[in-house]
Amino acid sequence: MTTAQTTELDVQPSPLALLLLGREADPKSERGVECPGDLPSPSDPDLVERARAAKEKLGDKVFVLGHHYQRDEVIQFADVTGDSFKLAKDAAARPEAEYIVFCGVHFMAESADILTSDDQKVVLPDLAAGCSMADMATAEQVAECWDVLTEAGIAEQVVPVSYMNSSADIKAFTGRHGGTICTSSNAQRALEWAFAQGEKVLFLPDQHLGRNTAVRDMGLSLEDCVLYNPHKPNGGLTAEQLRDAKMILWRGHCSVHGRFSLESVEDVRARIPGVNVLVHPECRHEVVAAADYVGSTEYIIKALEAAPAGSKWAIGTELNLVRRLANRFAPEGKEIVFLDKTVCFCSTMNRIDLPHLVWTLESLAEGKLVNRIEVDRETEKFAKLALERMLALP
Ligand code: SF4
Repeated sequence: MTTAQTTELDVQPSPLALLLLGREADPKSERGVECPGDLPSPSDPDLVERARAAKEKLGDKVFVLGHHYQRDEVIQFADVTGDSFKLAKDAAARPEAEYIVFCGVHFMAESADILTSDDQKVVLPDLAAGCSMADMATAEQVAECWDVLTEAGIAEQVVPVSYMNSSADIKAFTGRHGGTICTSSNAQRALEWAFAQGEKVLFLPDQHLGRNTAVRDMGLSLEDCVLYNPHKPNGGLTAEQLRDAKMILWRGHCSVHGRFSLESVEDVRARIPGVNVLVHPECRHEVVAAADYVGSTEYIIKALEAAPAGSKWAIGTELNLVRRLANRFAPEGKEIVFLDKTVCFCSTMNRIDLPHLVWTLESLAEGKLVNRIEVDRETEKFAKLALERMLALP
């Protein structure tokens, strides 16, 4: 793989980008849906009390899920915290909860809706909380990619593997074409399964997780991977390149984890002698290659729990989580810093704030269902198939 293929600089502007966080709705992607309703002011001193009162009024009817990357002001009201897949399973295990309030982003709420019963209603406190990575693969683009693979005569050899961080449409595409979903914890097992079903994998939508798993964990070479750019004709690849490749990586990335650079790693090692660098596999390949440890958010939390007193850690993942972990482990004498010098919140995760949570809980307590996320039956059927294949992974 050439350097030019891995750089983010040649991103083609998409008309969808103009809708980002705007007022126009684009229901086919995760972008630009507006948040209705009158929100309480962020300066309202009673917000914490109002959230507590509304939650108490709802009792067992509501179950609040908090993703690890959420703000502290929101996390304090979460009944459970975790990564997106754990949270969706937690919600499914609480059938008595009529309302599942998902403090996370849009694709996570979709997954929760897919995995919970028809009676449970999944609510996203701010509909503009999308995910830039999930937005990088639309249903139309992926269908077009499959046509390109078909024309190159390789579609039958290709098994799609989609990261949990994808829209329900992409999960359904994966299910329809015999593929599976994966998380950052089980990506290697998913790829091993996929290579036992076919000769090639189409990995969606995070190029970095796909490349890091294939090359770092499974011994494939960078030359075995090609990058499919949905903004270029035929993905910017020749039929020969597609035929020679083992991993066809979708050109998507996380805007938060994609910011960490080799320079960040070198810099923190110079600043903090003896520091352990621990990064998420959504980071670029060169960052992962230079790190001491690599793993999912759950892995990061467990590694820090097990770390000895006096150890020093630089963490390459979202800032809300890193800050929380730094505060939690400081009394145990563990020094935890953020890998980069600049702040790096996930801006869409951060859209879920206390005013939106209060508005959601109070609306539900008054019997008003707001911001429901509902996946249509057909999409749900095939997305569930892909998720079930993941659950059955050896
Ligand atoms: S951290 Fe990255 S992958 Fe996660 S929601 Fe934000 S943009 Fe999406």
